[in-house]
Amino acid sequence: MDYVVTPPRIPSAQVAGIARRFPVHRIYCVGSNYLAHAQEMGRTGREPPVFFMKPADALLPVESGEAGRLPYPTLTRDFHHEVELVVAIGEGGSGISPAEAQRHVFGYAVGLDMTRRDLQAEMKKRSGPWCIGKGFEHAAPIGPITPQSQVTQIGAAMIALNVNGVERQRGAVAQMIWSVPEIIAHLSAAWTLAPGDLVFTGTPAGVAAVERGDLMEASVTGLEPLRVRVV
Ligand code: MN
Repeated sequence: MDYVVTPPRIPSAQVAGIARRFPVHRIYCVGSNYLAHAQEMGRTGREPPVFFMKPADALLPVESGEAGRLPYPTLTRDFHHEVELVVAIGEGGSGISPAEAQRHVFGYAVGLDMTRRDLQAEMKKRSGPWCIGKGFEHAAPIGPITPQSQVTQIGAAMIALNVNGVERQRGAVAQMIWSVPEIIAHLSAAWTLAPGDLVFTGTPAGVAAVERGDLMEASVTGLEPLRVRVV
């Protein structure tokens, strides 16, 4: 195929333990999926799930054992971390029931839904889209994806984020308002899921700002940790 401009590269994440990579198609995100975080953002937690997207090339893949480098973005003075469990979709589909959802999952990873909070807040005030707050370059750091067959009891995992060695966020995947199968069901009612889709499943309470030089260490029990430095 001949193109009039250079075609984009396919963003991809490492898969733990093997050389072949996971190609990224879309990045879906769930807003306010932990009660305490929903409340800190001014919601009750009883609302239906809120979805938004980041462009696939917002991915910042971090390889096993390495620390990613995240450039502090433009326009913001309130650059927030949100540690999240990420679901990697291996088999596409639409109208997927919660009971069927598990077989659409390729694996899981630790991710950060990095947010220009001041810009997101401004767009909320204007009832505008969140793209400028959520969908910029490097806004989706992710660690290696662990295949589902190697993950036991993701529903019992703890999720946490330390910044410069100090704990900022801690929660349990079991505290999610919408479980992984329920998220897949809701998402696939609205969009046709495809192999290569990633789903950021929401963050526990404790979101806060980072500055240049800060080291974020994100973890979910049983998955490879994610380390990212803001530069
Ligand atoms: Mn989030």
